Amino acid sequence: MKTVYLFHRGGIRYTDSTVPPRNSSAAAFLPGLSVIPLVQHIGNRANPVVAVGDRVSEGMLIGRGQGMGSANIHATVPGRVVRTVSWKMAGGLTNDALVIKMEGGFEKLGKTEEIFPWQGLSSFELQRIIAEFGIVEMEGSGRPVSDMLYALNSAKDSVTLVVRCVFDDPWLAADYVLCKERSAAVAEGIRIAARAGRMSRIIIVLSWREKELGTMLTAALGNSEFPVDLVLTGARYPQRNRRELELVLRRFAKKEGVKLGSLLALGPATLAAIHDAVKLRKPILDRYVAVGGSAIKKPQVMKVRIGTRIGEIFEECGGFVDKPRRIGSGSPLLGRTVVDLDEPVIKTSFAIFAALSGQIGSSGQSKCIGCGECRAVCPVGLDPELLYKCRNGLDNREFKPGRAAECHGCGCCELVCPSALPLSTSIIRSALRGN
Ligand code: SF4
Ligand code: SF4
Repeated sequence: MKTVYLFHRGGIRYTDSTVPPRNSSAAAFLPGLSVIPLVQHIGNRANPVVAVGDRVSEGMLIGRGQGMGSANIHATVPGRVVRTVSWKMAGGLTNDALVIKMEGGFEKLGKTEEIFPWQGLSSFELQRIIAEFGIVEMEGSGRPVSDMLYALNSAKDSVTLVVRCVFDDPWLAADYVLCKERSAAVAEGIRIAARAGRMSRIIIVLSWREKELGTMLTAALGNSEFPVDLVLTGARYPQRNRRELELVLRRFAKKEGVKLGSLLALGPATLAAIHDAVKLRKPILDRYVAVGGSAIKKPQVMKVRIGTRIGEIFEECGGFVDKPRRIGSGSPLLGRTVVDLDEPVIKTSFAIFAALSGQIGSSGQSKCIGCGECRAVCPVGLDPELLYKCRNGLDNREFKPGRAAECHGCGCCELVCPSALPLSTSIIRSALRGN
């Protein structure tokens, strides 16, 4: 039996019966009105290159990225720009978007796709195409992949591409379905990314429960020009987190005598998007989204056009069984609260949910009972109870911002706290402010 690598300390088994089934995806309707935000990435707002009244085609550039962290934005349906909108997101941030009314014929949808051979392209040419089509990390903060590859250009040591197929959170259902339905695209995306980043090795990391994906991906990869390893991990959350992932990979490398060098970790949705950009010259027009939660009548994994409003997607899932108390984007564990159902799906929206119960830690708080659960689950070895109490004047001992800065925000402590205290939220805020 193959070794299963685990991180040593803390973590939780995160289960949720309200996630959608992972057997297949359903295609969502094309939106009559698309709302395309100019911020779908970690950096500055893209600069619009079209105005109200302009006609746009499917896949046309409508916003140009401005510097590191920013990415190009494309129209996802053909039509006309009918207005611009701005809205407040949770945390008081403002986002603005171009609203496109769907009209006219599609350039790509339903057409035979033209194939662009990439094998003869240099790593710089591949990086340029990936930047041109606005490819960002689709499961995280939306960091442009071209920035990540560019940073590797000056790497002194070798680089390993880490394919993150670790499903420690059931809300990653969309990634799992994508892996099964688009394994050939993911595999070719792996080879393109490895060439673009001049990698010397590929490691596909899988939770042992989903090891069948490893067989599918290695079969689709065929004879790779790079050495390929499969590494099995546990499924305890937060195994997918960069820190915990690196811990198990370093242990694997030591055991097997493998040199890893620098690591670049990308998930399956990002790798499929790299494939589409380079081989099909197509920006991110749609994405797989897990739609679920206790308030949703028919949870399902859907293939949704970027710019489709969240309210429309919920309607396609049968609507609500009752009035939801919390609507969010991402996993309920760490996801962002959505305050307006007109907010659209963007490149990084891997899941959306509507729940009948409130936000973790937002209600029903009571006094700490000193159970120690939060310490037991912290993978970093912090004392969330103490940090929280010192920070909030409930303990006279000195608050140590340096210790709080070690927190990587996995949320385990908050999830298990029987007193529903906002532990990780408070610790992260303190670390960001440095006090
Ligand atoms: S959120 Fe921070 S303090 Fe809480 S368990 Fe995770 S790493 Fe530890
Ligand atoms: S889990 Fe909550 S109640 Fe238990 S010690 Fe930690 S802060 Fe206190």
